[in-house]
Amino acid sequence: MIATLDTAGRAKRQEPIDKVLGAIEAGGSKFVCGIGDTPEDLVTTQIPTTTPAETLEEVVEFFRREAGRDLKAVGIASFGPVDPHPGSPTFGYITCTPKLGWRGTDVAGTVGRGLGVPVGFDTDVNGSALAEARWGAARDLADFIYLTVGTGIGGGALVNGKLLHGLLHPEMGHLRIPHDRARDPYAGACPFHGDCLEGLASGPALRARWTMAPRELPPEHPAWALEAEYLALGLHNLVCTLSPRRIVIGGGVSHQPCLLPMVRAELTRLLNGYIEAAEIVEEMESFVVLPELGDRSGVLGALVLAEEAARG
Ligand code: ZN
Repeated sequence: MIATLDTAGRAKRQEPIDKVLGAIEAGGSKFVCGIGDTPEDLVTTQIPTTTPAETLEEVVEFFRREAGRDLKAVGIASFGPVDPHPGSPTFGYITCTPKLGWRGTDVAGTVGRGLGVPVGFDTDVNGSALAEARWGAARDLADFIYLTVGTGIGGGALVNGKLLHGLLHPEMGHLRIPHDRARDPYAGACPFHGDCLEGLASGPALRARWTMAPRELPPEHPAWALEAEYLALGLHNLVCTLSPRRIVIGGGVSHQPCLLPMVRAELTRLLNGYIEAAEIVEEMESFVVLPELGDRSGVLGALVLAEEAARG
């Protein structure tokens, strides 16, 4: 609250200061923290991810210092796997992550207790899906999939306008897909499954198979045709199970401009005319698309989670 004096020295009616929202994209290498209410006014800073205690203390300190008592809620879009279910004893925890030291970390609780505000919490890909649905490449749709292809592969699905959670949250990166070992002897990078979709098509898989960083692989390299094939196999399964109206593909690997056209062609070939929807038969270019929010989708997703937490 602010109190000001009028010209006669009387205290005017106290006006509430507009409260602001806090947004945290919790990543394996950095936490992007933002304060604001809209994509236009969100001011962000980056905090390196070190130990849970050190990183979360810095995050809490940042919001205390920059927003103080004006903060009304915080949203966190976190790397995972996580427990996203309010009411669960481990809600807001990072669960079985391979990232050293972070397994079993109570991210939402630590931030919420430190700042004394409500906290919204979900996976980073679910956050990106929310942001693309609100301001980006799927803003006109109630059913779509956001898939990220980078260090790992993860996906979030909006179904009837709501994020799909189910038992935990979808793990689209760990779909099983056909793998011809005679043609591609690479065993796969997933520590749990070997040659699941993430094991075959993530950035680390590309790097290990071709002994080159994905961004250094030229467009004519056979790596991209194989990558498009694997991704299209994954998308085929997602189209058949979730019936999305659009698929948005983000993440570092998607930055290669030749990739999406190849994925679209391969997905069309695999579906083989079975799904008779104009979106797929005639409009494949707008069915599989890049995100519109780029690197900001994670932190903007956290902003949507903060809004939801503020509403209670
Ligand atoms: Zn896997």
